[in-house]
This record gives sequence, structure tokens and C-alpha cells, in this order.
Amino acid sequence: MKTKEKNSRSDRSPRSDKKSSSNSKSVPQTEFAALGLSPKVLAQLDNIGYQTPSPIQKKFIPIALTGRDVTGQAQTGTGKTAAFGLPILEQMDLRLPGQQALILTPTRELSEQVANELERLGPNTLKLAVCVGGRPIRKQIQSLEQGAQIVVGTPGRVIDLLFRKELNLDQVKFVVLDEADRMLDIGFRPDIEKIMKRCPTERQTLLLSATMSDEVERLAKRFMNEPERIDLSEKDVANKAIQQYYISVDADRKISLLAKLLLMERPQQVLVFTRTKRGAERLHKTFAKKLKNISVIHGDLPQPKRDRVIKDFRSGKTRMLIATDVVGRGIDISGISHIINYDVPEFCDDYVHRIGRAGRLSSVGKGQAFTFVTREQGPQLTEIEKRINMLIEKYEIGDYNPIRPRPPKNY
Ligand code: AMP
Repeated sequence: MKTKEKNSRSDRSPRSDKKSSSNSKSVPQTEFAALGLSPKVLAQLDNIGYQTPSPIQKKFIPIALTGRDVTGQAQTGTGKTAAFGLPILEQMDLRLPGQQALILTPTRELSEQVANELERLGPNTLKLAVCVGGRPIRKQIQSLEQGAQIVVGTPGRVIDLLFRKELNLDQVKFVVLDEADRMLDIGFRPDIEKIMKRCPTERQTLLLSATMSDEVERLAKRFMNEPERIDLSEKDVANKAIQQYYISVDADRKISLLAKLLLMERPQQVLVFTRTKRGAERLHKTFAKKLKNISVIHGDLPQPKRDRVIKDFRSGKTRMLIATDVVGRGIDISGISHIINYDVPEFCDDYVHRIGRAGRLSSVGKGQAFTFVTREQGPQLTEIEKRINMLIEKYEIGDYNPIRPRPPKNY
């Protein structure tokens, strides 16, 4: 939890510089200008080096700036935070203290990433409170008392603060449901319901989701007012940017296949997904004996450890990270060259989320995703292909065969 007053930040020029530039010619005429953003915001974008809006930003920002409700299909790493954050910063009254915007996210990590991004996008005086579980609630209460203008948090802690009467949403004008599909997966629907009831009906609601399942549509219908839909389907967002392969493998040869693949591909950074926490631990134990710079993350790890693991992966110190879905989802790292689905994901949507980590904004180029598939999992692969609306290419590894030949039928 942080209250973020940003006067101390050294990487930003003093706001007064920008304020005094009433001459609009001094505002950089980047593609952002065409989206309807004000000179002040354009100057700030220039400050932090954003030159070109991402596809979701191009489509989302002009509509959200009109005050309409908008749903956007976008994953972490596509620039979605600025897509919803900039229109909110433009429309809120930055001179007024107190909660004007509420942003709900499924995980602590994501809440913190969102807050960090808003901190970069907003003025120095912007006050943010990050209200998430696993962090001291006292400090969160303090930042609310100090007039946090934007609250970013996970539903559980937000409810807690509401019930303690430490958080008041009466003046909220903007609500964001970020990674709505994941919030529903985790079972936050009842909490979201309770929170939304406490927000004024006169508000702008923005919803971001990597997938627009029926459940997400229902959520949008329930809490939004005739939302405009921005659909950047996975074909645009994920599939084109990522080369996807599957490899047929016998279950007991998966470890040797992973070793072989790492040797061949020598990835700059690789994120390996397993289905279970135990599976992740086991894999980590096996590979930590042979490789350096390898780490594991899953929901059983204490928060400080999770923070450290993510920090090390983001900085490049860790080259191979083994993760389970729920935690892997909160990792906003866009420069990953390789994704390996050591286990086929349980749900097709998880596949989309997993591979969405590779080769996106500020990435190392085209990412690659490999999915290990056993004979029995053929139908699951087909389901995934239906979901992403394309065939995944088979990957052959030279003379190494990860599948034992079947004995002849009449044997
Ligand atoms: P997000 O999808 O919001 O988590 O953003 C992913 C990363 O892209 C973050 O590190 C952002 O700072 C960065 N980013 C977002 N929009 C832009 C942009 N238009 N130009 C360059 N970087 C961006």
C-alpha cells in the first residue's frame, strides 16, 4: 500500500514547466494528439516517452473521453492501463481531494502495476491509494484519510475498507473493472456486486477483459450503461504477435522435452506455466539443480517473496520463471521471448492469457509460445484452436522424439 504523492520523483520534469506552456505549438504533435487529449496530458506523455498509442489506446481513449461506458478486450501488456487511465485523468477534477475513481483488479500485483502506471501518467500532485490484501491496512486507511483521489484495489480489501467505513464511494465518478474475466474466475462476482451498489449510479464505468465470455457480458450488462464495445480480438492482439506451436509428448518425457527445448531455443527469458502449485515446485526443484537464474511463483508464496520474484524477472535477473495461472496472470512483463505451456491450461481462456505475455509492447520482437500436449490431450488442443480461431503449428525437434512409438496394434 502506498499513498503516492509524486513530488519526490526525479524522473519527471517539474509540472510547472508544462503548466506554463500555454503555447500549444510546444506540445508534441504525436499520434496521441489526434485522440483528443489535452496539451497537459500530451506533454506528460512526451515526458515519459510515449510516442505512439497502442491499438487499444487508439480505439478506447476517444470514446472514453466522451464520458460513455466502454468495454475493451485487451490483455496486460497492451497498454490498457493508459487506455482507461488517461480518459479518467482528463475528466476528473485533479484539484479536489478525495475518492473520485475506483479501479478494481483481480490481484495485488496488478493493482500495484496499475497504480505505478497511473503515477507516471498523472500530475505530480495525484494521490493514489493501493488497497490490496496482504499489505498493512493501517497505511491504506491513512492514505484514504489523506485524500487519495484514485483508489486501486482488489475487491476483498476494498469491501473490508467499505465495511469499516474507511472508504466512501459516494463521490466516485469513474469505476474500472480491470481484467474482469479474471476477477470472475477468482469468484469476485459477489464482492463486485456489493462494491458497485455503493457507487453512485451517475458514473462512468469502464471494463477491460482479455476475453469477453458470457459471464463478462452479463457483468457488463448489469453494471454498465449501454457500453460501447472495443473489440481487439485475439487475432489482432495475440495471435499475430506470437508464433505458436504445440509439441506432442509423453507425460513422462515432459521434463526431458523442456530441457531439450531450452537448449535449442536458448531463450532470452522464458515463462513456464504449470497447472498446479506442486507441479511448479517440482519442476523448479528439477531445473534449479542444472540452471541458474531460475525461479518459481505461485499463490502459496508469501507476498514479499512474490514481489521479489516478479521484480527479479522484470529486471532480467531471473531468466526462467515457473508460474501457475492465477499468479502468472498478474505479471505484467511484456518482453518475454518464450512462453512454454508445460501443462495444457485447464481453460481455453487461460491459454489466451498465458501466451499474451509474449512479444507485445516494448517486446523483444515476435514472441514464441510452445504447448506440450500428451496424446490424451488432443481434444483440449482442438478446443484451444477453436477458441483462438486458428490452427497451432506442430513443432518437431530434429531427431529427438518426445513420444514413444506405439507398439503395433496386433502385438
Ligand atoms: P499495460 O498493458 O497497461 O500493463 O502496459 C504495458 C506496458 O507498456 C507498460 O510498461 C506501459 O508503461 C507501456 N506502455 C503503455 N502504453 C504505451 C505507449 N503508448 N508507448 C510506449 N509504452 C507504453
